[in-house]
Amino acid sequence: MSTIDDLPPLSTVIEDHGLRARKSLGQNFLLDLNLTAKIARQAGDLTGCDVLEIGPGPGGLTRGLLSEGARRVLAIEKDGRCLPALAEIATRYPGQLQVIEGDALDIDPLAHLTPPIRVAANLPYNVGTELLVRWLTPPEWPPFWQSLTLMFQREVAERIVAVPGSKAYGRLALLAQWRCEARIVMGLPPEAFTPAPKVSSAVVHLTALPAPKFEADAEVLNRVVAMAFNQRRKMLRSALKGMGADIEDRLNAAGIKPTERAEQVSLEEFCALARAVAAP
Ligand code: SAM
Repeated sequence: MSTIDDLPPLSTVIEDHGLRARKSLGQNFLLDLNLTAKIARQAGDLTGCDVLEIGPGPGGLTRGLLSEGARRVLAIEKDGRCLPALAEIATRYPGQLQVIEGDALDIDPLAHLTPPIRVAANLPYNVGTELLVRWLTPPEWPPFWQSLTLMFQREVAERIVAVPGSKAYGRLALLAQWRCEARIVMGLPPEAFTPAPKVSSAVVHLTALPAPKFEADAEVLNRVVAMAFNQRRKMLRSALKGMGADIEDRLNAAGIKPTERAEQVSLEEFCALARAVAAP
């Protein structure tokens, strides 16, 4: 029995269900249930919340979320081999765990969740950034979730919390910090995972702000920052040429020097640029 519930330890679950990790699915499992409960606690007070989890695998974090009091967990898992192990957890927590087999990029979770909703996941590295950008860029704000508590490779986590002028500053920092408060809340060494990846990891906690810090259209801002940082060493008037022949005027209208480079431009200035680009 484990320390957090009366289900078997994860090493036994993995052995019983033949869950040898597959690299193609980004499978690096967390087997220490005290650690998964600790990660679940970083998500805040889960009582009275539905939690969306992507990639539950053998269910370590799922068990952490349920033992920490989540009202319900909706878990989306692409690897059908994990379903019998997850079914055992569902039996232990009747009516509290729903598992959907499929690709998180194709499934709309909203049909299955009731607010307030928090998201918590040890994300598969191959789809982690794409999911984060989707969660950060809905047209309307506040989003469907209150908070995101997500495991990333350390280098990606640092890009999310980066400040202007730093090497890690770019699209992820701007999209995350525009409408959220973002911080790294835990660091994990490679040995915390089975199998151990080559790099360290970190948990990032993002809380949705009630309103954006500065006005801008999400789609336009996303397009502007993606293009600006795609050629981050170039002056903005060159990097953003694809936005239209009058980009220099739009940069001036936003109060940004056209000779500036993207990494020197603040969130407030990028939002002003997104408004200038969207203007007729
Ligand atoms: N949550 C488990 C843990 O912490 O031990 C497993 C985390 S492992 C890093 C990522 C999980 O995401 C794997 O179980 C993998 O099968 C699953 N996965 C990979 N791609 C996925 C996708 N597109 N949609 C849903 N799940 C996916």
